[in-house]
Amino acid sequence: QAVVAEIKTRLGIKDSNPAYSTGLTWGGAGNKHFKTIYSPVDGQAIASVNLATPEDYEQVVKTAQLAFEQWRQVPAPKRGDIVRQYGNKLRLYKDVLGKLVSYEMGKIYQEGLGEVQEMIDICDFAVGLSRQLHGFTMHSERPGHRMYEQYHALGIVGVISAFNFPVAVWSWNAMLAAVCGDVCIWKPSEKTPLTAIACQHILKEVLLANDLPEGIFNLIIGDAEIGALMAADARVPLVSATGSTRMGKKVGAAVGARLGRALLELGGNNAIILTEHAHLDMALRAVVFGAVGTCGQRCTSTRRLIIHEAIYNEVKERLLKIYPNLPIGNPLSDTVLVGPLIDQDAVSSFQKALEKVQQEGGTLLTGGEVLVGESYETGTYVTPALVEAENTYHTVQEETFAPILYLIKYTGDVEKAIALQNGVRQGLSSAIFSNHLGQTETFLSAWGSDCGIANVNIGTSGAEIGGAFGGEKETGGGRESGSDAWKVYMRRQTNTINFSRELPLAQGIKFDF
Ligand code: NAD
Repeated sequence: QAVVAEIKTRLGIKDSNPAYSTGLTWGGAGNKHFKTIYSPVDGQAIASVNLATPEDYEQVVKTAQLAFEQWRQVPAPKRGDIVRQYGNKLRLYKDVLGKLVSYEMGKIYQEGLGEVQEMIDICDFAVGLSRQLHGFTMHSERPGHRMYEQYHALGIVGVISAFNFPVAVWSWNAMLAAVCGDVCIWKPSEKTPLTAIACQHILKEVLLANDLPEGIFNLIIGDAEIGALMAADARVPLVSATGSTRMGKKVGAAVGARLGRALLELGGNNAIILTEHAHLDMALRAVVFGAVGTCGQRCTSTRRLIIHEAIYNEVKERLLKIYPNLPIGNPLSDTVLVGPLIDQDAVSSFQKALEKVQQEGGTLLTGGEVLVGESYETGTYVTPALVEAENTYHTVQEETFAPILYLIKYTGDVEKAIALQNGVRQGLSSAIFSNHLGQTETFLSAWGSDCGIANVNIGTSGAEIGGAFGGEKETGGGRESGSDAWKVYMRRQTNTINFSRELPLAQGIKFDF
């Protein structure tokens, strides 16, 4: 509760107001549409939030439309300056926002700080980008003609985010969208709305100081129903949705039905391949961070470990020494490495998956318990599990959003391991540990990993913002963050200018009259 008090004081958050707009608060008592948010860390009720109604949604869209009229006329480098100011504010609030991320979502404080740092990084990236939103020029086949292409602001970008990266994913979208001249409507996960409100309060300071309308960055707190409204709304040309594949199929279908643009960042089922040429000390660091970091609740969490038979027993034994000694507990404590799962539903999916995989023939080697007793009263703390399994098991084919690592043995050459790695429906992140050039290059080749992210001697989780982030197959195909991901937030226009005194037609077509 000290964390909450600190946040509220430092950000000037008060206790009553509507469900949207930069005047957002954490109040809500007395309003029939409110929800109490409990921390997975200690089970305390942190605050209540108003849940938006469809009428609220209408008002937010109107506010955003008005702001867009103004914002798209602001020169891109000036828009970049607003993002720069926001990044600077985030630097001031990094510790307290990082703490709130940790307390509301349950990841350890170090990862909470890392998440805010990612927001700062994307702000820096977007500032530079604001002077580089460039298209090509081309030579025309017609004399006295010039051709080029340019990118214009698209309009309203709907951002639907998941609970596990409650603020970073929004910032990847919102900061790029902002420099591109778009306005955003952010619907955070209903499980983690408080961090979103805190971000909005920090933004408010910047918008007010620059005399800009709040409608440039809108926040709407609601559940799937509000997300579905956005997906079906033709006034929202781009919907960027992060979450489960189940959600993505619905959002993708609704956006597709109106021929809108969807950027989907969905579930992963990520593997690390350990070949007989792996540097095991390095590899095990990456494996353990990838499998138990954020308590297995990253889209890039390592879920499968594909191990060459020559080193299988050694890897298994070393992991069996590490796993029982992992410090599990309050994620705000410096010594803890594994915090809680987000809620009871997550605990029950964890337990069900372990039960099912054993029915399918898997062997639970360690972990899989729900911790009880002092400091574990919430029932959300579990011991990370190691399971020997086959890649074909139904359970292994699914993403269980919890710390379960499946050990899968392979024999033969690296192609065998790659086939296992690719043999799932998801295609987000992948990695190989090997010091054999032939193996690593095969993994990165066109016949190698089929994922959006393929790493060598680095684990599956912990991407930097400079590269485009996203995955193939059921992960949805979207790309966010660095590289040229900005292009999806803009509409592209090809311009041909005739400065001659003739009107020749392309392809030499004769049309004389
Ligand atoms: P979720 O799918 O339950 O919810 C995500 C968001 O979608 C929430 O805001 C929710 O309200 C909204 N939503 C749910 N159903 C909807 C619908 N029918 N229409 C519109 N909106 C809807 O996911 P979660 O449990 O919050 O997050 C975990 C999942 O997110 C995992 O599968 C994880 O892999 C994935 N994830 C992916 C990435 C990525 O970049 N690929 C990043 C983070 C999380």
